[in-house]
Amino acid sequence: MQRTLSIIKPDGVAKGLIGEVIKVFESAGFKIAAMKMKQLSRSEAEGFYYVHMERPFFGELIDFMVTGPVVLMVLEGEDVISRNREIMGATDPAEAREGTIRARWAESKQNNIVHGSDSEESAAFEIAHFFSGIEIF
Ligand code: GDP
Repeated sequence: MQRTLSIIKPDGVAKGLIGEVIKVFESAGFKIAAMKMKQLSRSEAEGFYYVHMERPFFGELIDFMVTGPVVLMVLEGEDVISRNREIMGATDPAEAREGTIRARWAESKQNNIVHGSDSEESAAFEIAHFFSGIEIF
């Protein structure tokens, strides 16, 4: 059994896609082990994306992530990290497989509706960044 951190980014919330995205996850058999809606501060967003600090788009990415509230979730299931990445689709919606969340709803490489951890190591860091143990069911 594995856990991953999922975020419905500000564009997904603004477009009214919270329900659609949750439906995709539940239909895939993922258990929602924790969930909350939150307006990220700049420092929370910067800490979350610290691995991208040197990337040229870092400033823009942080600006985007604080434009509005996000929905944070811990998803649980067998191979949920890679299965969630499959369901999300490629970072760039132009390259995302048909039927994936990003192919269906993402606007650009940056405004791509969802985040999902990419390894067990990043999942552990990302879950701990936003949730304490007693918030995870
Ligand atoms: P992910 O794991 O598929 O989310 O992709 P990455 O870890 O490579 O990038 C993290 C996030 O940064 C992406 O989900 C996008 O929101 C954003 N991003 C990635 N590449 C670019 C880019 O070239 N330009 C901009 N503005 N944002 C990007």
